[in-house]
Amino acid sequence: MTKKLKPESLMMSYGYKPALSEGAIKCPIFQTSTFVFQSAEEGKAFFEVAYGLRQPHKGEELGLIYSRINNPDLEILENRLTLWEEADECAVFESGMSAITTVLLEFLKPDDLLLISGPLYGGSDHFINKILTKFNIHVLAFKVGQSKEDIIKMVNDSGLAHKLALIYIETPANPTNDLIDIGGSKEIAKLFSTSEKEVYLAVDNTYLGPIWQHPLRHGADLVLYSATKYIGGHSDVIAGACLGNKGLMRRVKGLRTFLGNMASPNTGWLLMRSLETLKVRMDTHAYNANKVAQFLNHHPRVEKVYFLGNLTEKDGEQFAIKNKQCLTNGGMISFDVKGLEKEAFKFLNALKLIKLAVSLGSTESLAEHPATMTHIDVDDTLKKELSITEKMIRLSVGIENYEDIIDDITQALDSIGN
Ligand SMILES: *Cc1c(COP(=O)(O)O)cnc(C)c1O
Repeated sequence: MTKKLKPESLMMSYGYKPALSEGAIKCPIFQTSTFVFQSAEEGKAFFEVAYGLRQPHKGEELGLIYSRINNPDLEILENRLTLWEEADECAVFESGMSAITTVLLEFLKPDDLLLISGPLYGGSDHFINKILTKFNIHVLAFKVGQSKEDIIKMVNDSGLAHKLALIYIETPANPTNDLIDIGGSKEIAKLFSTSEKEVYLAVDNTYLGPIWQHPLRHGADLVLYSATKYIGGHSDVIAGACLGNKGLMRRVKGLRTFLGNMASPNTGWLLMRSLETLKVRMDTHAYNANKVAQFLNHHPRVEKVYFLGNLTEKDGEQFAIKNKQCLTNGGMISFDVKGLEKEAFKFLNALKLIKLAVSLGSTESLAEHPATMTHIDVDDTLKKELSITEKMIRLSVGIENYEDIIDDITQALDSIGN
């Protein structure tokens, strides 16, 4: 076949050889801790390559050794995940937090400066500000809407510019869908890189997922996922992933081996099953979200809707960033009801089809209250600045029939008045 197959056509078979598994059409769960070597010489060769003591010979693959280092369910899954964004390599983890913390620990050391965007996912924010700082890592945060010149000035004014080692961003930001320019962030990283030290850019791409935004193409060095969300997509597994070039991924996988926070074979198998439907699920999430947003935009009990599809020329840079890096409007919508916490809670308590739960990116629609749930930890001033108020609801639009989702929202909004 001369024409290159699209990733969605490869998700059912890529990287798996049925002949090695009794002809099973699907990759079995390799529920095993260790692998038998055919000879002592083979075991020695596998270890030499795994520990980087020599380069593999031409055509030599990394042999299976021990499931903390490699396992077919993880390797095949990792190979499939690289296809969506044409990454060299991928590493999967037991959670999104594992992927994120491993990258932060690998690319930072005491006295380095870390530049982050705000707001970040609560877990990432906690690890960075409460744990990394214990190891004397300096943290500087910029906000959505701050210009590149402003950010550069802030880094220079800190007196720590020469210590900048990593830029870590999350876009779109949760829960407001505010965007950060990935290409612009890379320019900042380049500006502070020297011949001795390259400043890397890592992007948490959980919110849009691997189909709708490709940070590596816009200059990111590493992409991170909570695979618990869209990649897993069924609210039944916790997992994470990191993708990037060979050299950086060798470092990430090296640390993963010694932290021992790789995903289990069973998780690998579940995520492979999820990847087969990733494209169709994402298409439906995006389609439904557009329908739901259009409905919310015109509802008298709704004050404001935070949705990528609502950006227009008037929004200036935000609109420009969206056109540059987002391939759809995504599946996440936040909106303010008219009223306060009482009205927001009435709405949430009245939902029937939509489940009242945190997390996102699953087949079923989910709703939550950022101010008192996912973002309860964010300090009050920042909450106000970010418009995370008592009246805000966050909606992860699922793949149910969109009319049923809208009907459920309608009856729940109506219940506010009673
Ligand atoms: C959920 C989430 C994480 C953390 O992932 P876990 O799989 O829960 O460890 C990180 N970043 C974002 C944006 C998330 O939504």
